[in-house]
Amino acid sequence: MVIPEFNASPAATVKLLWGGTFDPIHQGHVSSAIELSKYLGVQPVQLLPNSQPAHRQRPVATAEQRAEMLALAIDAHDELAMDTREVKRQGPSYSVSTMAEVRQEIGPIMPLIWCMGMDAFAGLRQWHRWQELLDYGHVLVLTRPATYWPQDPELLTWYATHKVEDAKHLLASPSGQVAHLKLGQHAVSATQIRQQLCLGLKPSATELAPAVAQYIASQSLYGIN
Ligand code: ATP
Repeated sequence: MVIPEFNASPAATVKLLWGGTFDPIHQGHVSSAIELSKYLGVQPVQLLPNSQPAHRQRPVATAEQRAEMLALAIDAHDELAMDTREVKRQGPSYSVSTMAEVRQEIGPIMPLIWCMGMDAFAGLRQWHRWQELLDYGHVLVLTRPATYWPQDPELLTWYATHKVEDAKHLLASPSGQVAHLKLGQHAVSATQIRQQLCLGLKPSATELAPAVAQYIASQSLYGIN
């Protein structure tokens, strides 16, 4: 299988990455990423599927299948792209290693922003060398329905130490800051999609892109026969 290739525009002045498992990619990811692109005035938002997530259980779909679904989901959206480096690298996917590699590629000046949902942020202290993330870029936390600010004092202190009030301020420097942002709230999760499919239910087009639904059926993924 050939993993589809997407490249950021050579004129890009900001590197905006959104890592995840995308098992499968859903319309919560897609809609939020489009809104983020508009809010920051940055294109593209590069969705970055992991190979072997380091902080959660093994995905159901293979890395190649998740990348293929991602390619189908973003096909019609010029403001979105995919970064396939973790899928190609294989082995455990550590965001800090990916950010270090990207920083090496883009040089010391360009802002690098790593986006994550609030649920991912809540588990940040379990991430490999988490405090080094800001050595290479910024962290942007997106609120998400039914997720709340973590109560972990160390994480909150870290957040307060590095925060800027408006996510747009992250565009003014290469690294070292955190922000949070509330976009349109899309109450959809990959867990919920997998459960629906396993029960023989059909997720709506506002939850799962039809092309991705077709791919899932063609590959008999998530318990579909
Ligand atoms: P699962 O239910 O399997 O945990 P998920 O829906 O959280 O999956 P992931 O691929 O794990 O999807 O998410 C990748 C990133 O996108 C994470 O940082 C997650 O917090 C964020 N994210 C996922 N869904 C949404 C959403 N609806 N709104 C905002 N952020 C989201």
